[in-house]
Amino acid sequence: MKSISLLGATGSIGIQTLDIVKDHKDSFQLVAFSAGKNIEKTREIVKEFKPLIVSVQLAEDAVALQKEFPKTDFVFGAQGLLDVATCPEADVLVNAVLGSVGLEPTLAAIKAKKNIAIANKETLVTAGHIVMSEAKKHGVAILPVDSEHSALWQSMHGENRKDISRLILTASGGSFRDQTREDLKNVTIKEALNHPNWSMGAKITIDSATLMNKGLEVIEAAVLYDVDYDNIDVLIHRESIIHSMVEYHDTSIMAQLGTPDMRTPIQYALSYPERLPRSTAERLDLAKISQLHFENVDLQRFRCLDFAYKAGRMGGTILTAMNAANEAAVGAFLQEKIKFLEIEDLIERIMDKHVNILQPDLETILHVDKETRKSVQSMIK
Ligand code: NDP
Ligand code: MG
Repeated sequence: MKSISLLGATGSIGIQTLDIVKDHKDSFQLVAFSAGKNIEKTREIVKEFKPLIVSVQLAEDAVALQKEFPKTDFVFGAQGLLDVATCPEADVLVNAVLGSVGLEPTLAAIKAKKNIAIANKETLVTAGHIVMSEAKKHGVAILPVDSEHSALWQSMHGENRKDISRLILTASGGSFRDQTREDLKNVTIKEALNHPNWSMGAKITIDSATLMNKGLEVIEAAVLYDVDYDNIDVLIHRESIIHSMVEYHDTSIMAQLGTPDMRTPIQYALSYPERLPRSTAERLDLAKISQLHFENVDLQRFRCLDFAYKAGRMGGTILTAMNAANEAAVGAFLQEKIKFLEIEDLIERIMDKHVNILQPDLETILHVDKETRKSVQSMIK
């Protein structure tokens, strides 16, 4: 039995993680979780799973919930996330919170010797070098949840890492894959949120439309698997059936395939090294799909992917600046404060003026993150 603490339980990945826990009651139990402001959903999860600790974003919500559920401890805010991440009863932390707010709880969990199943890619982008070196130091595993990274990981099992010549990340192309840049000028939020293959949270759906999601994933792959940016490729694959591939020196390519259902990689991160059945999942019927398509990405068309390669190759605080600028800009787009193409303009302006610091410590990263968000806000005004 693995005991799980879960950051971001009320989100898209969080809810699907709870589905897996429910499907395998003999293998997994939920001992702690965090939510943001969705108190209705928080209530449902507390009733169903009876966890020991729950964190919410606001103090007043924690107070109200404490009265309602006296057997659970309610905490809140940044400290609440740390309390959930380090819950003594948990073996593994599933980090499915949104954004770089997931960084400090991840580091705290690593220090508390929890294995980390990580969906929260912004943490690996903003401070990958710190997360990986801390994990090594404390002997904990960083288990990928993101479908591409799970596919890469599964395509490396039993292989010698030194034989890898290339990682090939597949990308659906997002909501606007068939639109020209001219078409993108006046797209609406509703159109941007209409992803062709995956059902996900709002921020990552917008990131998929700009291809910043793939950019963050290229960086995530470089961090997790220590592969040079020159040897990480992105391939548009509109069906989202091949989740990613690893090429070896002898030109063999290993791939992992599946239906676009995040519960499969979530479950694998939790069950590894075993595989558990997925009774509720649709099986892949390749004869029915009949054809798979692939094409190269145009970096002029999808500028955010180009920014991510640039930031990744530079390393240092420009990664934090790019990520924070993207989080702030996507937030502004979702609040109808800016247009779709302004997302990339804002990121570019932030990156152009950034004074890069290599090998930053945690304090520097947190400072750059905060200052970048402020700069984006003032650029929007
Ligand atoms: P959602 O927006 O659906 O959920 C985000 C979760 O984080 C919610 O529980 C939300 O709480 C909570 N949250 C947001 N901001 C804060 C905050 N400041 N403090 C505390 N809690 C907060 O996101 P997703 O599930 O889509 O994505 C989560 C992470 O997983 C992201 O890093 C994303 O890139 C990654 N990911 C997602 C995939 C997907 O299919 N969705 C696939 C691969 C990776 P509440 O709603 O209660 O306010
Ligand atoms: Mg992904």
